[in-house]
Amino acid sequence: KVKAVHVVEDRKVLSKVKNIIAVASGKGGVGKSTIATNLAVALAKAGAKVGLIDADIFGPSVPKMFGSESARPNLIKLDDKDMIEPHEKFGVKMLSIGFFVDPAQATVWRGPMASNALKQMIEEGNWGELDFVLIDLPPGTSDIHLTLVQTVPVTGAIVVSTPQEVALADAIKAISMFEGSGVNVPVLGMVENMAWFTPAELPENKYYLFGKDGCKKLAEEKNIELLGQIPIVQSIREGGDNGIPAAVDQDSVTGMAFADLASKLI
Ligand code: ADP
Repeated sequence: KVKAVHVVEDRKVLSKVKNIIAVASGKGGVGKSTIATNLAVALAKAGAKVGLIDADIFGPSVPKMFGSESARPNLIKLDDKDMIEPHEKFGVKMLSIGFFVDPAQATVWRGPMASNALKQMIEEGNWGELDFVLIDLPPGTSDIHLTLVQTVPVTGAIVVSTPQEVALADAIKAISMFEGSGVNVPVLGMVENMAWFTPAELPENKYYLFGKDGCKKLAEEKNIELLGQIPIVQSIREGGDNGIPAAVDQDSVTGMAFADLASKLI
């Protein structure tokens, strides 16, 4: 039922995956991994078959956000080839460099090692038939990122930003990285994260801590769809720390917000 948003002809890798979507941010700390994680869970809850690849080689956070730090994916033989069986939780199949190396080690890797690790997770992961594979990219738009984006046959990108000007400046760079530089990956949409804060005792109030609608306006300017605005919510932060993404509880307000985000892609 899930359609391919953008078809790349003759794709050799991940050939049974309909949509390969890079989640990028430009600037770090804007909530890229949080959005990727919760979106993956929300897509799975909506009935899609979902994979998540943590390509944030220099700071893998997917294992922690899924409460799966101790997961060690198995090697299996498939048609006489060694394949890595992705770890599965909350309906999401995942691989992260954090499952294989001490994160402190990966921080000193150079570009080629990073793209090799990503390549291996993609080509040697036993992903099977999926509607979506989300790829949580490391923040930034350097050569490393360009190589990562070129390594993978990405069919679309989602750019996450806060409404703050410095974050938006980097989001613009991320958009040009996908649309320009010979990469030609369509940006499917933007997600404005930390859009506002509403204190529990003042449920009618919205405080725009990082500025109002910055990402929304940028999306309009660039003619890119705004997939959603996610406020700053304590339970989203807690979910990241506890290893139970907020999107798991679909009845909560935040769970609904992520379900709404997912519905834009299905
Ligand atoms: P990035 O991947 O862009 O570096 P993270 O996803 O790691 O960013 O998020 C940075 C921090 O902000 C984390 O501690 C995370 O829990 C928190 N965070 C992200 N989005 C939200 C949100 N909408 N509400 C509350 N906390 C958030």
